[in-house]
Amino acid sequence: MLSVNTDEHYMREALRQAQYAFDEGEIPVGAVVVSGNRIIARAYNQTERLNDVTAHAEMLALTAAANYSGGKYLTDCTLYVTLEPCNMCAGALYWGQLNKLVFGASDEKRGYSRMQPSLLHPKTEVARGILGVECKALVDDFFRKLRKK
Ligand SMILES: [Zn+2]
Repeated sequence: MLSVNTDEHYMREALRQAQYAFDEGEIPVGAVVVSGNRIIARAYNQTERLNDVTAHAEMLALTAAANYSGGKYLTDCTLYVTLEPCNMCAGALYWGQLNKLVFGASDEKRGYSRMQPSLLHPKTEVARGILGVECKALVDDFFRKLRKK
């Protein structure tokens, strides 16, 4: 199916961002924002580098997308992120009125979907599990290496 292939294509771009985070010793989460079949923002987790607990990939991608588009709302945007967003990021996506969220791996401990009712905007569509195995493998690999240090 074409739409699935497209989602996978953009998720690969998000995974590439996550790999940059991995290489820099950050928890490997990457995100891209797509509007009109174009990537308008790319970001990866930078909480260590920026010494900022809010510097999750999604937050940085939201800011970059707003800077690019000149509007603060994301009503025509899809956010691809390798790991299920946390509550903070889901809240930010709510305020941005995101059109669609696509995430790879689920986050059993800190994912927003543990919360009911959903923190996302009611109009936000959700697709999960896109390249989920690859996305999870990167995070698992990161923590395995961390424990060995
Ligand atoms: Zn987050």
